[in-house]
Amino acid sequence: MRIVLLGAPGSGKGTQSQRLVARFGIPQISTGDLLRAAVSRGTELGLKAKAAMEGGRLVDDALVLSMIRERLACEDTRGGFILDGFPRNLAQAQALAQMLADLRQPLDAVLQLEVDYGELARRISGRRTCADCGRVFNVLTAPAPGAGELCPKTGAPHRLVQRPDDNEATVAERLRVYDEQTRPLIDFYRSQGLLRVIDAQGGVDAVTERLVRSLTGPR
Ligand code: AMP
Repeated sequence: MRIVLLGAPGSGKGTQSQRLVARFGIPQISTGDLLRAAVSRGTELGLKAKAAMEGGRLVDDALVLSMIRERLACEDTRGGFILDGFPRNLAQAQALAQMLADLRQPLDAVLQLEVDYGELARRISGRRTCADCGRVFNVLTAPAPGAGELCPKTGAPHRLVQRPDDNEATVAERLRVYDEQTRPLIDFYRSQGLLRVIDAQGGVDAVTERLVRSLTGPR
């Protein structure tokens, strides 16, 4: 199963990708996670990407595409993959189509997570990530998710941190960039018959079920 999760910042792409990984046993490929790892390791790619990420702008297409090309060449993607946060603009979507055509592995579906603006802002303000295992939490959700669970990486309680680009000014810019550059992909994929719109308001479990039903049920 080869899928793209499309949606604004805070729509739940990361959280739901992690659920779908567990359900279908295919890897999540998050360009945001790959870029954050490069920044924290201080690699050349990370140094080039850092300023754009801090400003809420898109990182250069050439950098992102070479990262994706390398990742899609890995053996673990042969059984499928979940693309999370990529593609982000039309040029990336066209490059992806070409890459997958060369690999003879076309996309099966593009799932668009639909969430209203107020809910996006609320989710982003509560979002925290475990600095050790990368699992995504939301401190505004009750009961506290994962409360009492131990991090599988360290065996200690999860170490929750807020992403540096989840501050108010950067979030506003990320939402503007989404509207301007990423939203047009909805029509791009609809015209190819790949788009499935998912109501992503409400609880995490309910949204996971909608995604799974959309992927496994009759069309
Ligand atoms: P995300 O974790 O998907 O919200 O991404 C965080 C930041 O990483 C974005 O605001 C961009 O600066 C950068 N980024 C992630 N994915 C891409 C992409 N496909 N193209 C360009 N920049 C990206």
